[in-house]
Amino acid sequence: MTQRVAVIGAGPSGLAQLRAFQSAAAKGDAIPEVVCFEKQSNWGGLWNYTWRTGVDEYGEPVHGSMYRYLWSNGPKEGLEFADYSFEEHFGKQIASYPPRAVMFDYIEGRVNKAEVRDWIRFSSVVRNVVYDAEGDNFTVTVHDQVNDRVYSEVFDWVVVASGHFSTPNMPEYPGFERFNGRIVHAHDFRDARAFKGQDVLLIGTSYSAEDIGSQCWKYGCKSITVSYRTAPMGFDWPENWREVPILSHVTEDTAHFSDGTSKRVDAIILCTGYKHYFPFLPDDLRLKTKNRLAAADLYRGVVYVHNPKLLYLGMQDQWFTFNMFDAQAWYARDIIMDRIAIPADKQELMADVAEREAREDAGTDNKYAIYYQGDYVKELIALTDYPDFDVDGACEAFLEWKHHKAENIMGFRDNSYRSVITGTMAPKHHTPWKDALDDSMEAYLQN
Ligand SMILES: Cc1cc2nc3c(=O)[nH]c(=O)nc-3n(C[C@H](O)[C@H](O)[C@H](O)COP(=O)(O)OP(=O)(O)OC[C@H]3O[C@@H](n4cnc5c(N)ncnc54)[C@H](O)[C@@H]3O)c2cc1C
Repeated sequence: MTQRVAVIGAGPSGLAQLRAFQSAAAKGDAIPEVVCFEKQSNWGGLWNYTWRTGVDEYGEPVHGSMYRYLWSNGPKEGLEFADYSFEEHFGKQIASYPPRAVMFDYIEGRVNKAEVRDWIRFSSVVRNVVYDAEGDNFTVTVHDQVNDRVYSEVFDWVVVASGHFSTPNMPEYPGFERFNGRIVHAHDFRDARAFKGQDVLLIGTSYSAEDIGSQCWKYGCKSITVSYRTAPMGFDWPENWREVPILSHVTEDTAHFSDGTSKRVDAIILCTGYKHYFPFLPDDLRLKTKNRLAAADLYRGVVYVHNPKLLYLGMQDQWFTFNMFDAQAWYARDIIMDRIAIPADKQELMADVAEREAREDAGTDNKYAIYYQGDYVKELIALTDYPDFDVDGACEAFLEWKHHKAENIMGFRDNSYRSVITGTMAPKHHTPWKDALDDSMEAYLQN
């Protein structure tokens, strides 16, 4: 009997899974029946921009954490699909840090070409997954929002590709309840222009703090203050930007920091990260991990050690993104299609996880972490027919990117890099990032 595979989520990871199966089918292989459930009305995951915050049109928590004017925060040369280059999609090489709309178009181009849209049930929220040991299968319960109908179907395999940058980590600081201004998590940040002319406080030192601060600066806020817990980001910031130690408390209009300094602020943006959150999974199936390169309980970063018929994509912290999701999806496909065997002994699966964790923990800097993940991508690619590409070249692009950021944090996006897929050098963008206020695809692709 044909096996059935449920894929939860049609973001870059879930779409990689569909493309992996489709590529096998295109070679004439018999593939399982694949059904992808996507809670949004369109694909693309986080790259599918929404103006909404809070809940969507059906009352579901909004998945999107991206904002207007978001440009890729790393070079596109590090994430390019090995089977679908930027040049193939756009008919020419393009600059290295595309805005969100350009990235969305690229993601969509590959799956349009693969003709897998019919495999996806949109506006369909997975509510529950239950494993039945006797039948060795899963009952997946889904809410079809359009017809307001809840139904269940049985699958042999489940692939969780629901992302982990959507459920905010929300700390509270003394005095928040009496602060007169806006307190918002990065997840709900949409438009930097809303903070024009304001003194903004950001809590955290993640990519969100760096990029949301840069957006607010670019679109005319009055000042940026970033509060850090352990160490400042330490870039050479513009003159109206400063970094201060941890927030101790706030009053009606003023933030007070642990070094005794204070700053009057209009708004507070919590750039305090996200939680891995799977409300649709029971205890025996639910991944519990920190955001790290060696995610807990995942053999080879994909197979859930407590139930190897459950596979997770994209759950690790990310230097590599799209091509790593591909490497994982091709690997998951080959496990499902019985081309790759995994150890039957659970201790062996857990030993693999422990080894990966120890190796990650031995690292002390970004370079180590980048090559660690690069090696992981290589390891998976070697196991399948995913097109080989110059992963070390992608690592080098990441290192150059870090170097360019250290050199000029508001100008690093003006650099360009060589594609590791086609070997072509990207052109420089026509306008420096800080002056390019229009983030539309048309504006970006102009010569
Ligand atoms: C603000 C921000 C900026 C980023 N910028 C970059 C960048 O510049 N470059 C880069 O490479 N990466 C960036 N990322 C990283 C991003 O995680 C990846 O690019 C990518 O989107 C991850 O893909 P994914 O498919 O794993 O998850 P997601 O993109 O989160 O997609 C998961 C999908 O699962 C669906 N889903 C969730 N729960 C359910 C359910 N119960 N039922 C049905 N469907 C469900 C969601 O609706 C969503 O479509 C950024 C992330 C954030 C938050």
